[in-house]
Amino acid sequence: MSDGAFLSLRGLGKTYADRPAVSGLTLDVGRGEVLALLGPSGSGKTTTLRLLAGFETPDTGRIVVAGEDVTSVRPEARRFGMVFQHYALFPHLDVGANVAFGLALRGDALARRVAEVLAMVDLAGYERRAVGELSGGQQQRVALARSLAPEPRVLLLDEPLSNLDPSLRERTRKELRRAITRVGITTVFVTHEQEEAFDLGDRVAVLHAGRLEQVGTPDELYDAPATPFVARFVGRANAIAGERAGGAPGSVALVRPEALRFAADASAPLAGTVTERRFVGDRAYFVVEEADGTSFEVLAPHGAAAVGHAVRAVVERVLFWENGAR
Ligand code: ADP
Ligand code: MG
Repeated sequence: MSDGAFLSLRGLGKTYADRPAVSGLTLDVGRGEVLALLGPSGSGKTTTLRLLAGFETPDTGRIVVAGEDVTSVRPEARRFGMVFQHYALFPHLDVGANVAFGLALRGDALARRVAEVLAMVDLAGYERRAVGELSGGQQQRVALARSLAPEPRVLLLDEPLSNLDPSLRERTRKELRRAITRVGITTVFVTHEQEEAFDLGDRVAVLHAGRLEQVGTPDELYDAPATPFVARFVGRANAIAGERAGGAPGSVALVRPEALRFAADASAPLAGTVTERRFVGDRAYFVVEEADGTSFEVLAPHGAAAVGHAVRAVVERVLFWENGAR
């Protein structure tokens, strides 16, 4: 996608006190694409967003937007909108004044623009409401409206849902997706939650210790993880010794719980006792302990076995890396 890239990160690096926070990060984001940056805490997600926004200067690399190198351009002049984890709304100003804050418009033109962006985030008519009266999800959308108001070229969101109650998070996520789709803006969305990244990202970039492990669609990451780290981070996976899967020492083999199947056949290679069953919808995760004390997890119809049962299982699909310990 490098020819069609609207936003391009080229070998970005940033080191704090001898510890690289981001290294050699190269990524392209298409016009109107939503890219989710996914990684555990400390993997360099916020640093990447701050580099994009211009709040930090990279030690190496370049940032290009619509063909323009903005690496040394000051934050305001980049025309990037940013929504922080803490929405940083002004509690003493009403919704309209919060949204109007960064706009150079006056009078009717200002009121029109504020009304327009509030409608984009499904808050039409909320101008005179006090920020403190709104739910967390609504406040999050006010912050989104404020960042969209000056018509940014790129929208940057840093864990925008992490402050919400779990019960609100899924609904707010849907509302956020609807607003971003409606605006059609090129977006980089940071999260440490796989489900959020897969739900919101057209593509997902997985960061680990400041480096890009893989970028791809959710399906690509799940079905063909480039590294064992990605396999584990975007889903559940059982470790089986690489040698057991036919590899040389140092190889790594992982099996997703749904790639294991209970089998009555005495020749099924895995055998053990069910020690745990956890329901998920109509299926359940079964933890099976083998004679040597190791255990593995099988996803199967919830009635497939019960705790205490002796079971056997066959492996239907292995994720395999010849040299997984990198
Ligand atoms: P994430 O957002 O993925 O949790 P960050 O980008 O915040 O990760 O941090 C990446 C690494 O850089 C961490 O080890 C963090 O401690 C370090 N770091 C981030 N910002 C600074 C800073 N201003 N000064 C020193 N170290 C920092
Ligand atoms: Mg962060």
